[in-house]
Parts: sequence; structure tokens; C-alpha cells
Amino acid sequence: MSTMLDATPAPLGEFRNQPPTDFSKRESRESFKAALAQARAKFPVAVPLVIDGQRIETAEKIDSVNPAQFTEVVGTSASASAAHVDQAVLAARAAFRSWSRTEPEERAGVLIAAANLLKARKHFFAAIAVLESGKAWREADADVDEAIDFLEFYAREMVRIGQPRRLQHYLLGERNDLTYHALGVVGVIGPWNFPLAIPVGMAAAAIVAGNTVILKPAEQTPVITSLWVDLMLEAGLPPGVLHYLPGRGEVCGARLVQHPDVNMIVFTGSREVGLHIIREAATVRDGQHFVKRVVTEMGGKNALIVDGSADVDAAVPDVLYSAFGFSGQKCSACSRVILLEEVYDEVVTRLKEGAHSLKIGLPEHPATQVGPVIDADAAAKVRRYVELGRSQAKPIHIGDVSKYVGEGFFVPPSIFTVDSARHALAQEEIFGPVLTVLRAKDFDEALEIANSTPYALTGGVHSRTPSNLRRAREEFQAGNLYLNRTITGAIVGRQPFGGYRLSGIGSKAGGPDYLRQFLVARVATENMMRNGVASLTESAVQTWED
Ligand code: NAD
Repeated sequence: MSTMLDATPAPLGEFRNQPPTDFSKRESRESFKAALAQARAKFPVAVPLVIDGQRIETAEKIDSVNPAQFTEVVGTSASASAAHVDQAVLAARAAFRSWSRTEPEERAGVLIAAANLLKARKHFFAAIAVLESGKAWREADADVDEAIDFLEFYAREMVRIGQPRRLQHYLLGERNDLTYHALGVVGVIGPWNFPLAIPVGMAAAAIVAGNTVILKPAEQTPVITSLWVDLMLEAGLPPGVLHYLPGRGEVCGARLVQHPDVNMIVFTGSREVGLHIIREAATVRDGQHFVKRVVTEMGGKNALIVDGSADVDAAVPDVLYSAFGFSGQKCSACSRVILLEEVYDEVVTRLKEGAHSLKIGLPEHPATQVGPVIDADAAAKVRRYVELGRSQAKPIHIGDVSKYVGEGFFVPPSIFTVDSARHALAQEEIFGPVLTVLRAKDFDEALEIANSTPYALTGGVHSRTPSNLRRAREEFQAGNLYLNRTITGAIVGRQPFGGYRLSGIGSKAGGPDYLRQFLVARVATENMMRNGVASLTESAVQTWED
């Protein structure tokens, strides 16, 4: 029998990160292989639009292919038009009133239910990430773990922030309350490189804060995100709260940004598109009642400094993993390594040897370290930089991918040395497996080179000199600085993630400030010294008792 008590969500307990799968265990490997087969059996997955819980097909379709074997179609998605955006915004506005008034604990409960479903299907989701985005097993597993963490973390954050707080009493008989309220309809625009974790993080934060969401995934990875949308509905999310609009950025993405009834845009992607969105969102259009809030997480040109005191045995594998993991397509990837004179020759030699032994191959094979890049455009862009490196820089290593080209979007993992920090290879985000080596005469110059790009996303230092580590903390311009370790793989709650300068605007994802971006704070001040009281209200009793 249902009682009032049954409706009260259980307290959430302390946040804990989802542990990575231990692939050294045979049963994990077997289970993951089975998940790959299970995922493949569903190809091509049909991905419709989802508006107000209704699945809608469109005449235009977008194929999502396996970047490692591009003849394999992972899914075929519908493609939303501007009119579909308008339809979704209308439905999202209608749902906002009740969802925004749902208790924070209840909203958090939906995220926890979704996290539990995702934990139970972790290998299946990771298998889709391997086949749709070309991630190696470990990277795909981490993508799903991060999505689970975001759900668990933001659920708890909302319960914390959702508590109304009484502010100081200035006068006897005055009561001041600070409360947080949802903004309205939020447009979420995602990238392909963390096709689950990033859209889930942005959308779940908006949802748990009481907003209604229209989610537009990247063209390259609509399948995995659509499976999460289904999972949220299964977890009990009311259908009007989350709408799914796969499609072209310049069509449905652009309309979402321009729509007068979308109060906030949360974007992760390239600097070019991010800055365009900031400009577009600044224009107030007919019927608009809200200055759009914009959060844009953008690119980087991340550097790792290795000084003369560094443990080279530790530094070299950290540089190689940071530069070539997921083919250099993490926004946090190391794309510049700055070597001090004393270690320059040794580290360059060791990088060359290490790069030779990188295991290139199909991401579905467990030993693969470097797979393809995401699509033909990305491959062409990386190849242009490799050619630039051949002609204008000194190649240290250019990998051999001839065995794979023709079947997938493989490009050679490459390392070049350049003489100037102003060189295009040292300034521009390539977003592929290309590492540029620079030489610095001392730590001052190393920091100067590290800070010479307009970005500030991640950075790192390998050093056993405490004063250098201290200086790096002060002077290295990076949203996330890593000392004596790899510079990728931020963990929710432990390493809140995000950059500044031209790397983005907004508070760090997976950190204590993130959710407030999706809320407005209101203060209510009440004069409690009435000239007579019509009836002894609850609030009056409370204040007199304080
Ligand atoms: P992208 O900018 O090409 O696309 C991102 C999204 O924007 C896609 O969904 C796309 O369809 C959409 N879009 C394109 N044009 C649009 C328009 N005119 N209006 C609205 N939406 C539009 O980026 P990408 O290639 O998917 O991702 C790679 C980039 O993302 C890299 O630069 C990387 O550094 C960055 N990134 C940054 C972070 C971070 O946290 N800072 C994390 C991941 C990726």
C-alpha cells in the first residue's frame, strides 16, 4: 500500500566516483566482447527525433558510421529542421511549470534512477562509444563512468543547493530568504568527442535544476546520446522535460540559439562555433524576455613542460598517453611538449622510441592504443598539419597507418620539433594525434611558451623542483593544471573541469559552482512587524520563535 512516506526519496548519501572496469580480469574482457557483439547486432540503429515523448522520423537522414571501418553504419538519425525546434520549445515551455516546481529531491531521484540503469548497461553503452566514436576500450569505459558520475554528482548538488537559506536579520521583524529557481528552456549542444559524458553532464545539470531541455548531439554521434534519452524516460523523467533533436548544427543548432524562448545555451565544441553562438545569443529578438545565458566550453592547445629535474621515465609515457590517447581528440590532450635544454635530447629520443611502439589499430581490439579520428574532415585537417610539419618543421616520428587507411579515418600519429613558439603547429588546435616539441632555455621561458597561445584549458609540468611546481601553480595559464602526471582524464568531483581565455566561459563541470549557472537566485524580504495580524500565519510564528 502506498503511503506519503513512500513518496519521499531516500537520502542520497555521499558521492562516490564510478570505478573503472578492470580489464585485466578475463570476465570483464569477455563481457565487453559480448557487449560489442550485442551492440553490433542492433546496427543500424534508427535514431528518431524525440519531442514530448513522441518519436518523429524525418525525410532527411544522417548516417553515423564507425570511424575505424566507415562502411559500417552504426545508426541512421533523423535530422531536425527549424520547425522541429519551434515545436520542441513549445512543448518544453509547457512542461516547465510543473517540472520547475517539482521538489529538488524528486528531480534528483530521476538522475539517480538513470545512473543505476546506466551502471547496469555500462558495457553496452561503452561498446557503442567504441564503435560510434572510435574510442579504445578504456577510454569508452571512462566516458560512461563520467556520465554516471555527472548524474550522481549533480543529483546531490541540487539537493544541497535546493535548501532554502535564511539570510541575516538586519532588523527585528524582517525576514530574508534566498532561494534558487530554474531559468526555463535550456538548449544543450554537444560535441562528438565525449559523446555520452559531455551531453549527459550538460543536460542532466539543466534538468535537475528544474529546467526543461532540448538536446542537440553532434552529427557524428547521435546514437549513444539517443540511448541515454530513452534511458532518462525509462527512469521516470516526464516526457516534456527532455527533447532530442539530432540534426545539422547550422540548421537546428542555429535555430535553438536564436529562439526567443530559449533562455540558456550550454555548448561544448570548437572555438569557432562557440564564439559564433556567443554573438548570436547576444541579440535580443522579438518576443524575447530573457537575456540568454551562455556557457561555451571550447578548444585548447595544451602544453606539458618537462624540466631538467624531471623523472624522464615517468614523463615520457605521460606525454605519449596525453598526446595520443583517443588519437589526440580529447580537449585536454597534450599537443605541445616544452623541454628544457638539459633533458631535450634525451626526451626527444625517448619520445621517438615510445611513439614507434604505440599500438595503432581498430579500437574494438583491446590492445589498441591509437585508433582513427572521427571523420573524413578531421582526417584531412590532420593530414594538412602533418604535411606542414614535413615541409616546415623537423619530423621526429610519423607513424605508419597504411594498413588501415582506406577502411577508416586513420592518420599517422606524428611528432615534430619547431624552432618558434609562434609556428602554426605550436599555436593552432589540431585535434588529432600531432605533438609539437619546443625547446626552452630555462623555466621562465618554458612558462612563457606555455602561455603564448590564446587558450587556457589544461597544462602540466613534470619536475622534481618544488619551486618550479610552485611557480607553475601561480603562473601557468590553465583551467586544469596537472603536476607530475598525465594531463587528461579529469574525474568528476575531484578535478572539476573547464578552461578560460578562449577555451571557454562558464564554471567548471563536475564542480561545486556548475549547477548555479542553470539557476536564478531570488531574495524575498518580508516585513514581519505587521499592524495587526489577520491570522497567525505559519511564517509569523516561525519568525517570532527565531
Ligand atoms: P563543433 O564546434 O564542430 O560542433 C559542436 C556542436 O556544435 C555540434 O553539435 C554541432 O552540430 C554544433 N554546431 C555547429 N554549428 C552550429 C551553429 N551554427 N549553431 C549551433 N550549433 C552548431 O565541435 P566538435 O568538432 O564537435 O568538437 C571538437 C571541439 O570541441 C574541439 O575544439 C574541442 O577542443 C572542443 N571540446 C572542448 C571541451 C571543453 O570542455 N572545453 C570538451 C570537449 C570538446
